[in-house]
Amino acid sequence: VPRVSARAAILVTGTEVLGGRVSDSNGPWLSERLGELGVDVAQITIVGDRPDDMRAALEGSARLALDLVVTSGGLGPTEDDLTARVVGEWSGRAMVLDDALEEQIAEILRPMLSRWPHLSAEAIRASNRKQAVVPEGATILAPVGTAPGLVVTPAEGRAGPTVVVLPGPPRELQALWLAAVETEPFARAVAGRTPYEQRMLRLYGLPESEIAETLCSAADAGVAMDELEITTCLRRGEIEIVTRFAAGDAAAYEAFAAIVRARHGAALFSDDFSLIDDQVAAMLLEKGLSVAVAESCTGGLLAARLTERPGASAYVAGGVVAYSDHVKESIVGVAHELLAQHGAVSAEAALALADGARARFGAEVGIGVTGIAGPGGGSEGKPVGTVWVALRADDGRQIVRRALFPGSRSEVRERTTTLAMHLLRRLLLGEDDGAAV
Ligand code: ATP
Ligand code: MG
Repeated sequence: VPRVSARAAILVTGTEVLGGRVSDSNGPWLSERLGELGVDVAQITIVGDRPDDMRAALEGSARLALDLVVTSGGLGPTEDDLTARVVGEWSGRAMVLDDALEEQIAEILRPMLSRWPHLSAEAIRASNRKQAVVPEGATILAPVGTAPGLVVTPAEGRAGPTVVVLPGPPRELQALWLAAVETEPFARAVAGRTPYEQRMLRLYGLPESEIAETLCSAADAGVAMDELEITTCLRRGEIEIVTRFAAGDAAAYEAFAAIVRARHGAALFSDDFSLIDDQVAAMLLEKGLSVAVAESCTGGLLAARLTERPGASAYVAGGVVAYSDHVKESIVGVAHELLAQHGAVSAEAALALADGARARFGAEVGIGVTGIAGPGGGSEGKPVGTVWVALRADDGRQIVRRALFPGSRSEVRERTTTLAMHLLRRLLLGEDDGAAV
């Protein structure tokens, strides 16, 4: 029996997305969700708000032997929003007014009408009705904004994929996607295919070439690598190894993961899709510790990253962008003599920033970041990309690291932020460099 997983294509619509004014976040988001479900994504297509192009994209996808097509956008009330009609036609279904849906949308619009009394009630009723006209027999997903989502199967006697039709605004699309996967026609569309699983291993502090070697050695060790579809990529300075496999081949995956663990145990930090940011937040919360930062070259990016999760006030005390030497001295309390002797980009300065942040913000852990993000400002001893990150806890444990990052200014800044997150994880795990500086 050949192992075939469910296959899907994503069709992103919107002239603003095609033209580059809005960059597509729905395609990648849907692709990740489909991947998590084990569905193989064959393509992401972006077309403008033109019915002919949309139709052509749907027809082109017919050659891909798809079980599912997921569309994004074009469900609004205006005339250029025509996805529902094009999908209905393509699935061989007549368009019909759904009374219950019309009433539901009217209910959503009512408060708007009273807020803007000068709006024409007639025009609103017309656009309301347009959004309630759906392919006959479609499963309707209740609107989160005003646009409903749809799950449309081919009409009786027709072959073809089931189409999940979702609105363009990302917040609405994401909420309706979660509703769509719970529907009966969605389950039917992927039923009969071999269930696939996807796992991810995340590693840090390892060149990508090492992974290539590990893949070879896994094959040498007799792991059934042909049962695994493995892709590795470098993202934000971390290596992600994504593996897809038929649910029945989990043993091959476990054998592979065991080899990665044995060879790269120190670098492997996540095998459950968790991000370093999730882990650091959870550890700080669990230990009841708070962190404070003093950043030079990252200009607040680390503080932004640490405070990204809701509830961050439980473990982030605060931070300061100490960009000039004057601010490093006057606000953070770095000694003038220290900067004069070692320079602002030095282990000593990074530690003094960490200590200053910790003391001034009253946190248990301080982090200091300093470096040369470039493109100018480098020297022979301190080339562009040189950064120092220092962490010191109130119990005296410390980690101080120098790194030399390649890439543009924004890449150096991002990599530095990632390094700081990983060093914070290690400090929280109990690592201590000792008083080397
Ligand atoms: P609306 O009722 O808002 O018109 P719609 O389903 O017609 O809903 P679109 O008109 O396609 O949605 O998009 C509305 C807005 O949502 C866009 O202007 C854009 O800001 C955002 N958006 C749409 N598609 C995408 C996308 N692929 N990625 C990111 N944002 C998007
Ligand atoms: Mg629209």
